[in-house]
Amino acid sequence: MKILGKYSIGLGDRFGHQGSAQLKAIIAASEKGIDITPVWNKSNREHNTIGTQPGDVRIEADSVTKSAGFSKPYFVDADHINIDTVDRFIECSDFFTIDVASYIGKKADEKDILEFLKGAEKYTGELNIAGTELSFKISKSQIRLIAEKYLFAANRAWDIFRKIEKAKGSGNFITEVSMDEVGQPQTPVELFFILKMLADENIPVQTIAPKFSGRFNKGIDYVGDPLLFAREFESDLLIIDYAVKQFGLPENLKMSIHSGSDKFSIYPLIGSIIKKSDRGIHVKTAGTTWLEEVIGLAESGGEGLDFVKEIYIKSLEKIEELCAPYADVIDIKVSSLPSKQEVSEWNSGKFSDSLTHIPGNSDYNPDMRQLIHVAYKFAASQMKDYFRLLELNEQTVSKCVYENIYYRHICRLFDIRKG
Ligand SMILES: [Zn+2]
Repeated sequence: MKILGKYSIGLGDRFGHQGSAQLKAIIAASEKGIDITPVWNKSNREHNTIGTQPGDVRIEADSVTKSAGFSKPYFVDADHINIDTVDRFIECSDFFTIDVASYIGKKADEKDILEFLKGAEKYTGELNIAGTELSFKISKSQIRLIAEKYLFAANRAWDIFRKIEKAKGSGNFITEVSMDEVGQPQTPVELFFILKMLADENIPVQTIAPKFSGRFNKGIDYVGDPLLFAREFESDLLIIDYAVKQFGLPENLKMSIHSGSDKFSIYPLIGSIIKKSDRGIHVKTAGTTWLEEVIGLAESGGEGLDFVKEIYIKSLEKIEELCAPYADVIDIKVSSLPSKQEVSEWNSGKFSDSLTHIPGNSDYNPDMRQLIHVAYKFAASQMKDYFRLLELNEQTVSKCVYENIYYRHICRLFDIRKG
């Protein structure tokens, strides 16, 4: 059976040019004693926007790992797929993020609900998580509500899983189940019963991506109380551990954090909790690399700077259309966005400082950063020019990509000190 390593990072590379720079960050971490499995992920939405095929991600992952002599495992993740979109991902992917968010809240057949309730009955009353201080009071009616909300989604996860398994064979891929792109976070008790549902369906889930409290906006820091997040995260980890033992789920089942890039205020907390409890983690960081390409072109000046200014100006004009598909994961204050006139006068330094995620830098503008995050379709619509500029300024761009993933993300998450 394919097993995902203890620590893994989802590396998105929308335009397929930064795989080497990303891998360099993984290799730098392993030289510091932190082994991280790279997982290249790209969602159906991103493929459609850019006009790429899932097979392109496989080609890139194979070629960058080969040329770096990287002999450890790596994966290609069919990110956020469902029953309608999975087909073209099956051959080239060996990691599948089964997205059940859109099925949550739809009611399963009463017969299935009753069957689930029967199996879950023994967890009513006081549920104490052995060896911890965590305990919950669980009523029958509460379990019914959870079943009514999530059982249908778990059934659909099984349909999707079986479709993949039939094509690829048992044990030949990693399964993740995601439910992050919804309005409401799941509570630890909900997570517990969701894991029971997945276990009842015999889905060997190795990573689970719940929605947490607070906001995980794309490409910027966590919005919420970091200490409350830490408490929730720790409870969820204990629940996962307990569920693994109770339901016979894969022992390496771990948390996957979606929209996980740039959450600098909670990385040290996540890092210390997983270290203390000896748990693994998967963090998806997809869009942050595209932002570094924009920053790298801005720093390159000349035509590169003009190109990214134009992307920003176009995105200002199409802001509503760009943001609509990302409603749950971006939050832009329009009044904080610089105007077209202002930006057209900016030099390289001002543009790149506005976008670069350095908290405390007075020029850093998280609203502009979120807007550019979702504006990649404007680069896709001038792909030939965009690729020419990326290649022309490769050194500057790949340095930005590497430094962002390694210093700002990996070092903070895994407490790697400079030097
Ligand atoms: Zn996600």
